[in-house]
Amino acid sequence: MMSGQYFYGGIEGGGTKFICAVGNGPGEIQQEIRFPTTTPTETLERVCDFFTPYVKAGQLKGIGLGSFGPVDVDPASPNFGYITTTPKPNWSFTNIYGKLKQDLKVPIRMDMDVAASAMGEYTWGANKGLDPSMYLTVGTGIGGSYILDGKPLRGLVSLEMGHVRIPQDEKLDPFKGACPYHGNCFEGLASGPAILARFGKPAETLAEDDLYWEQEAGYIAYALVDYIFTLPPRRIVLGGGVMRKDFLYEKIRNRVSRLLNNYLNHPMLTSSLEDYIVPPALGYRSGVLGGIALAMDMDK
Ligand code: ZN
Repeated sequence: MMSGQYFYGGIEGGGTKFICAVGNGPGEIQQEIRFPTTTPTETLERVCDFFTPYVKAGQLKGIGLGSFGPVDVDPASPNFGYITTTPKPNWSFTNIYGKLKQDLKVPIRMDMDVAASAMGEYTWGANKGLDPSMYLTVGTGIGGSYILDGKPLRGLVSLEMGHVRIPQDEKLDPFKGACPYHGNCFEGLASGPAILARFGKPAETLAEDDLYWEQEAGYIAYALVDYIFTLPPRRIVLGGGVMRKDFLYEKIRNRVSRLLNNYLNHPMLTSSLEDYIVPPALGYRSGVLGGIALAMDMDK
């Protein structure tokens, strides 16, 4: 480490793994570490061990944390900084922000994991400079975030874009849905666990020519069209484990095109959907780089 140089920290706190990095952007990562999520005590100690040398050297200006949730990111709430009602064993009501703040004593900005990914793609990735822009993850869960005026959009509560209702043709897909709260909401129908519950095997083992993929693309397209009609983003990045099936992008674009039906007269939507609905440009690093972007944004 060179003295006199300053860095930002990023944390992608996921339910299965944590990624931490120190740097100033995608080409300027000083150090990065990945490890499995175990107990809160052990996991957060590893996070602190990773950042401590930079803190001691006076080189860390701040840390951005994108956390799995649900997380309470309302500064006025008594549970601010907590992972709240998660079903993940040992993690419910963990004060992740408080623990890191107490041990590392640097400014920390916390948001939902998907909001951090949206910031990463907006700052350096496929949504670079596009405002408003949107990031949606379709994986273990489904969640989305808008970047509006350079920051993740917040409302009365955090955005829960995975729990919108979408049409289901029960003749084609009689599955009751996997969401414990809503049954056949978007996440209940189209997340990785929903596919696993439907077929008894994980999404990644479902063959490309399986007819289900048309329905999966349809579910995602219904939701995207609702988001487009409500707050039209300048581009949509689709990430997450299920979207590693590359052939889904074209199916989704075709469905979106049919659903929009040329009602919105913008060339991006009528003839350039291949540039409008795109994969993440930062790959698995959207979240951790988004953490760095959130930390840098505190300094502005
Ligand atoms: Zn739901």
